[in-house]
Amino acid sequence: MLHVDVMDGHFVPNLSLGPPVVAALRSCTDLPLDCHLMMTNPGDYLEAFKRAGADSCTVHVEVGDTAALVDQARTLGLKVGLALNPDATFEAVAPWLHRIDLLLCMTVFPGFGGQSFIASVMDTVAAARADIDRRGLSTIIQVDGGIDVDTVPVAAAAGATNFVAGTAVFGSPEPAAAIRTIRDAATAA
Ligand code: ZN
Repeated sequence: MLHVDVMDGHFVPNLSLGPPVVAALRSCTDLPLDCHLMMTNPGDYLEAFKRAGADSCTVHVEVGDTAALVDQARTLGLKVGLALNPDATFEAVAPWLHRIDLLLCMTVFPGFGGQSFIASVMDTVAAARADIDRRGLSTIIQVDGGIDVDTVPVAAAAGATNFVAGTAVFGSPEPAAAIRTIRDAATAA
């Protein structure tokens, strides 16, 4: 899938892109477009992202209104993700696990690419993995931030199954080879 980092200049200090860029991506790929909305008011834009061709939208638990946002995304026919920052605990998202498709455990503080992986987040990943397995849920655990060939085995061992790599792929002279290497490292873990 393509993971699209949307930053609003408010929830995070950086400003990136919005629905028009998602629409442009949609016009040139059939890959699922997984939009990570680092936004204070994602509910105002879910419909626009759906219209632009998003397959899934992930909102942050920190912005609140989680129940309404999950319902709104479902009504629009989107898959739903819930993200939590590195300083949040698993308890913040536990009540929603059965209502979402994807749990995004941020392994850096969101806002900028190129940051270092925060290993302590693996406690959250492991707690989520145990709860998801115990409850027989199919919720995907995604990690995002500082993911590369060295950190992906750590995240996979903790129970993550979906790995967002930015710098490790796009900073490589051979992105396709970088993806294969990272995927192999995750599978071997
Ligand atoms: Zn992201």
